[in-house]
Amino acid sequence: MRIATPEESISLMAKYSIPYAKSITAKSLPDLLNAANSLQKPLVLKLVSKEAVHKTEKGFVKLNIHDQLELKNNYEALLEAAGDIPVEEFILQEQAEGVEFIIGGKEDPSFGKVMIFGLGGIFVELLKERAIRVLPINSDEILDMINDTKAGAFLKGYRNKKVDSQKLVEIIYKTSELIQGEDILELDFNPVIADDKEIFVVDARIVLK
Ligand code: ADP
Ligand code: MG
Repeated sequence: MRIATPEESISLMAKYSIPYAKSITAKSLPDLLNAANSLQKPLVLKLVSKEAVHKTEKGFVKLNIHDQLELKNNYEALLEAAGDIPVEEFILQEQAEGVEFIIGGKEDPSFGKVMIFGLGGIFVELLKERAIRVLPINSDEILDMINDTKAGAFLKGYRNKKVDSQKLVEIIYKTSELIQGEDILELDFNPVIADDKEIFVVDARIVLK
């Protein structure tokens, strides 16, 4: 078993037409500065290291980067935060806006391949609420799965936040196809960020067999 590199995860998502926030991976500051020209601001810069599965905990995620100077400063701050931890590369990514969800999957020893869905971000610890389904799953069952959790409120709109239900159902369906179609042990899209127009995976962790 092995954790997929960001590049492998990105190409797996592309294979199943799963929208991932527009991103570039790079190892050096000049490459990052150059890549920034083709991305829409604000940007997010993340440091990738095999020794840090949870990036935020280590201070490896920098949000709200608007220009080249902020990019350079955040790059330097990340290197400093890394200290002795070996740096594999950086992900420079367009910043998404909206409600955060978790879409996950794994191979369960007794049930086979299953999928997990729930609210992400700051709501996760608060609610500890997830819906789980055995695959395969169709669109109606996915809608039912969403409505089994508090996340369902965002399909109708809650506190000025609304999520396009068709896009949410679609991304869950495509993820179920990826989980079933590939030799993977575990998958975590956390978070997937959505509003009433767009939806993107912004962080993917895929464990290959
Ligand atoms: P990790 O889970 O390893 O700490 P993430 O890539 O999930 O790292 O980033 C941590 C948090 O930063 C996310 O839960 C999300 O709130 C925010 N974040 C990360 N990438 C983006 C992005 N592209 N747009 C908006 N918010 C983001
Ligand atoms: Mg994450």
